[in-house]
Amino acid sequence: MVTIAGNLQAVKQRIAQAAAAANRPSQSIQLLAVSKTFGVAEIEAAWQAGQHAFGENFVQESLAKIAALQRLGIEWHFIGPLQSNKTRPVAEHFAWVHSLERDKIARRLNDARPPQLPPLNVLVQVNVSGETSKSGVVPGEERALADAIAGLPRLRLRGLMTIPEPTDDPALLRARFARLRALFEALRTEHPDIDTLSMGMSADLEAAIAEGSTLVRVGTAIFGTRPAPAGTA
Ligand SMILES: *Cc1c(COP(=O)(O)O)cnc(C)c1O
Repeated sequence: MVTIAGNLQAVKQRIAQAAAAANRPSQSIQLLAVSKTFGVAEIEAAWQAGQHAFGENFVQESLAKIAALQRLGIEWHFIGPLQSNKTRPVAEHFAWVHSLERDKIARRLNDARPPQLPPLNVLVQVNVSGETSKSGVVPGEERALADAIAGLPRLRLRGLMTIPEPTDDPALLRARFARLRALFEALRTEHPDIDTLSMGMSADLEAAIAEGSTLVRVGTAIFGTRPAPAGTA
């Protein structure tokens, strides 16, 4: 029988192999378990198997799970599109946001971050695929947004994130990830503390790790095929 624990083990093995192939220590790559559309039982099974960081895409759906699992001390990452009227619960309940693409959202998150919590870790999402994918800033615009974030005391700029367009072309995929890596290296000359390059999912984590990913976001390979089209935020 395939279990979540077994799937997790297999994903960790893929990460270790990809890291070895790239001459990188496997501890330099963090695994985020993407639990959108799955319930508290599945999340708890992964937690029991040693997974402590989870990613969610939809605010409403995530809040019930976060409340139900509070005792576990999970590190929650918000990775979906974020509307300005949903910034408060995200600032209150998440440790990370991967999908920042607007100045206004950054300011609202900053203003809503509770003073007793550490600053919210944020990544700027970059659209490295041109017009075929809609989320994220255009390459080149990440710098202005990063500068704005750096001026907000309740946010902590950690790096960049991307979701390339789906493609069967491995060379194109590698080029997309390499592009984000180059933008990251350039940004680091101005923001030397950034340390996180969030790229790679179930189907393409090897290519992302080969191009320098430090955090892979994996759903299907851990939890199985998602049951239904996800709801709305
Ligand atoms: C759903 C999702 C993932 C996980 O995708 P899988 O292909 O299931 O591994 C990763 N990142 C983001 C932003 C997602 O929305």
